[in-house]
This record gives sequence, C-alpha cells and structure tokens, in this order.
Amino acid sequence: MVSMDRVALGTYPTPVERVELAPRSGAPTATLWVKRDDLVSPLYGGNKVRKLEYLLAAAKEAGASRVLTLGAAGSHHVVAVAVFARRVGLAAEAVLVPQPASKHAADNLRAALAQGLEAHPVGAWALAPMALLRARAKGTFFIPLGGSNALGSMGYVDAVAELAQEVERGAMPEPDVIVVACGSGGTVAGLAAGLERAGMRTRVVGVAVADPVPIVARMTEWTTRRTALRAGVSPDGAWDRVEIEGRHVGHGYAVATEWGARAAEEAAMSGLGLDPTYTEKAYAAALGLARSRRDGTVLYWHTLSSAPLTALQEGGPAALPSDLAALLRE
Ligand SMILES: *Cc1c(COP(=O)(O)O)cnc(C)c1O
Repeated sequence: MVSMDRVALGTYPTPVERVELAPRSGAPTATLWVKRDDLVSPLYGGNKVRKLEYLLAAAKEAGASRVLTLGAAGSHHVVAVAVFARRVGLAAEAVLVPQPASKHAADNLRAALAQGLEAHPVGAWALAPMALLRARAKGTFFIPLGGSNALGSMGYVDAVAELAQEVERGAMPEPDVIVVACGSGGTVAGLAAGLERAGMRTRVVGVAVADPVPIVARMTEWTTRRTALRAGVSPDGAWDRVEIEGRHVGHGYAVATEWGARAAEEAAMSGLGLDPTYTEKAYAAALGLARSRRDGTVLYWHTLSSAPLTALQEGGPAALPSDLAALLRE
C-alpha cells in the first residue's frame, strides 16, 4: 500500500488581500492584510480543512472505517469532520457537548447531521471522556478536539510555507504579526512552528476565545512544542513567537462581545463575514493591533468557512431531534 501523508481536500494557495483600514483621528496605522482560509474549499472552508488533510490520511493509513471526534454541539470542527470524512469514504461520529444557543450553532449542527454524522450527546464536558470510551469501537480512528494535535497542526506548518512563497513572489510584505483566533490551539501551534521552520521574523498573536485563558495558553504551548518537534524545529523558538491575547474573550466560549459585533460591521464593509465564537473576537484584536501601530504589517488569518451551509444541510432533518436541540442552551 502506498503511504500518503495528506489527502487533498483544499485548493492552494488561498488568497491574501489588503484591507482598507479607515484611520481613527487621522493617525497612521499598520497595514492590515487577510489570509483567506475561508476559501480553502468551496464545499466547506475554514481552518479545520488543512488539519484534516493530515488526520484523515492517518485514519486511512491505519485502515480505519470510521472516525470519532468531540466538540461543542455547534462546532465548525464537527461539521468539517462530517463533510470531509464522508468525502474520503469514512463514517463520522462525534460526542457533542452543550454550548450557548445561536442560529449559527443550530445551522452547523443540522449540516453535520445531514452529512451523516452519528451524534452522541452528553450533558457536560465532564461526561465526554466516558462517552468517547463507549463510542470507541474497533476500526475507529480518534480525532482530537479541534483537530489539534501535532499531526493536525502540520497543516498549518504547510500553510506558512505557502505564505512564505506568497511573500517571496511579492503578493504581500512579510508580516510583523499574524493575528488568529485560538480555541484548541492547533492553528497557532502550526503557524508558530511553520514560521520557525521558514525562518521568518513574524510573531503570532493567538486571540483566546475560551476561558480560563491560562488553560488555553498551556494547551497551546503543549501543542506548539509537540508540533515544532514534529516539524524538526526548536520548541522554544516556536513558542517564543507566540503571545496569547486574553482581552477579547468576554464572557467565554461562544458568548458574543460588543466589540466583536462592531468588528463584524467593519469586516462586512470589506466583504468578510465573521462569527461570534471565534472570528469576531480575533478580528477585533487585529483591528486594535493595526491601529495601535504606526507602521508595519499585520496579517489577520481568517479561519471561518464562507461556503453556504444550505447546500450541506440538504437531505437532513428540518428540525433538530430533541436530545440534540437540548444541547443548544439559552
Ligand atoms: C476551530 C476554529 C478556530 C480555532 O482554531 P484552533 O486551532 O482550535 O485554535 C478559529 N476559528 C474558527 C472559525 C474555528 O472554527
């Protein structure tokens, strides 16, 4: 059997675009750019796709017939696993835990079910390990929360090589800082290890989207160090590039913030759609950082899919089954 590191799910490179930043009070700002990973696949974009290229290849390589993962009920990760596992001929299951209700979360869950996801709802995060043990059968490959382990994060090591090429050919200047949402930390980990490997001067600001921020930072550090080892670069060198920004988390995971909503209005003027869980918070931080600097280049890494969910919801339930609807809490 031919060994394969990645399955091809996306189309690369994703575009980099300059954002017109309206200056406040005429003061000079850094230039703001966006890396459009929302466009990584017309099927379903966002930052889970690059990770799944490695994780699903490993599942196939292991001879698995199903993958099992976990996440919040309206998680993008669970949608991405359902969509792309199916495309490579694997069944998908997920342990789902409650999260604050929103239309976006309900739409994600309906899309995941329509894509054939087998859902195992539990009432709290603390119950997830038992549910995972129960669901874990022979021939099942486990995909961690957010696809964030050293293997999945290799997708973002590759993404930096792609960025370095774009900089090389003059598509954009070498950024001083990359700003990206940080949940389970795999994206930050891959970017930091990738920057270390590419020898760029760029630093990474991971905008924490969950509480407690020190736990998010510890998880991200762990994954960054493991990813650096896997990529053959210095774990200290990679982690030294990272700052975990905790000022945008507000009242926690999937709870919208006022400054995030304002960032969404500004993003809409540049044709960029944001979500309240991740990208509103990260874009607010990117805008703040660009405006706090007088010069230089800030790259906001866009991690949300912009593919229409309606196509993915076709053939699925019109309403959520009650045990799953109960996971989306008012
Ligand atoms: C999952 C997700 C993130 C967080 O990425 P991690 O690698 O888990 O830190 C950020 N933005 C969006 C839109 C996501 O779906």
